[in-house]
Amino acid sequence: MSRVYNFSAGPATMPLPVLEEIQAELLDYKGSGMSVMEMSHRSKVFQTICDEAEADLRELMNIPDNYKVLFIQGGATLQFSMIPLNLMKNGVFDYIVTGAWSKKAATEAKKFGKVNIVATSEDKNYSYIPDCSDLPIDDDADYVYICENETIHGTTFQSLPNTKGKILVSDQSSMFLSRPCNVADYGMIYGGVQKNIGPAGLSIVIIREDLINKDIDPKTPVYLRYDTHADNGSMYNTPNCWGIYVCGKVFKYLKSIGGLEKMNQLNIEKAKVLYDFLDSSNYFKGTVDKDVRSLMNVPFVTGDADKDAAVVAATKAAGFDNLKGHKSVGGLRASIYNAMPIEGVKALVDFLKKYEEENA
Ligand SMILES: *Cc1c(COP(=O)(O)O)cnc(C)c1O
Repeated sequence: MSRVYNFSAGPATMPLPVLEEIQAELLDYKGSGMSVMEMSHRSKVFQTICDEAEADLRELMNIPDNYKVLFIQGGATLQFSMIPLNLMKNGVFDYIVTGAWSKKAATEAKKFGKVNIVATSEDKNYSYIPDCSDLPIDDDADYVYICENETIHGTTFQSLPNTKGKILVSDQSSMFLSRPCNVADYGMIYGGVQKNIGPAGLSIVIIREDLINKDIDPKTPVYLRYDTHADNGSMYNTPNCWGIYVCGKVFKYLKSIGGLEKMNQLNIEKAKVLYDFLDSSNYFKGTVDKDVRSLMNVPFVTGDADKDAAVVAATKAAGFDNLKGHKSVGGLRASIYNAMPIEGVKALVDFLKKYEEENA
């Protein structure tokens, strides 16, 4: 077996102990005589898997009782439409656009109502987070929307926007479970799990119960209603059983290493290794304002597209995979999610240092 350091933005690297446990249980899950892949979602054994996953997530994030946890398919992208469809009362939605993902979400919401872009950092290719302390929030806004960590551009909100009493909806796809989070500050938190938690094909929605609106357009497809999922314990239809199982393993793993406080410490320590190098380098530089740098996604460039391509090729040959930057930023991007060990980042930095010495 030979595993590389995988810096993919998603689907992304997962904790090795979790993969090993899954491997051990693959053919016969706990004496059931079958794989979780082959199991009825209505079976007692799967119900236990699902209940434990939810309970462990609630414990990790300290989720208040008046919030529902929903396991939904369709990726984070399906939430771009489910959010306006379900949270609509006045049909006015305020979006803060700090990157490609919040822009996509805003574009989708326009199909269902009036979208106000109350702040944006588009003028500088989303390399900063605008001041969100006094925004022109619409009196009729049904919610204020953010993407809390912009995966492509590499910025993170360091404090939440002042929503002037409106509920806050946050896409946490690429920072889910990376640090403690006060759930009560939000109306809804959601994310696809394939960035920082588990395998692709599952989204987790954490939503305040009173926001699950039954009085919505009756033509709304049944799968796209939050009440469908909430009223049926995320099992109105067949859920992503495998995804729920694997995420449940990751939740237990995070608990075992000390929870989200500990995870945050490790993430801060790990990102510092890379940022300290970028700050000291004369060859590479980070692309975003220092005060809003993401601990999860780290874009950096040489300033020359040909040199960038050469570095990407060299990293790949040396066993560091998926470092090519997104086309809208260029250069390189190291996604250093929860499951990336600090050794991986140290090895990458050693490689880049040597590369700089030889090529500068
Ligand atoms: C990847 C990503 C998405 C889209 O996720 P899908 O599950 O592919 O739909 C949305 N938001 C953010 C922040 C992402 O990183």
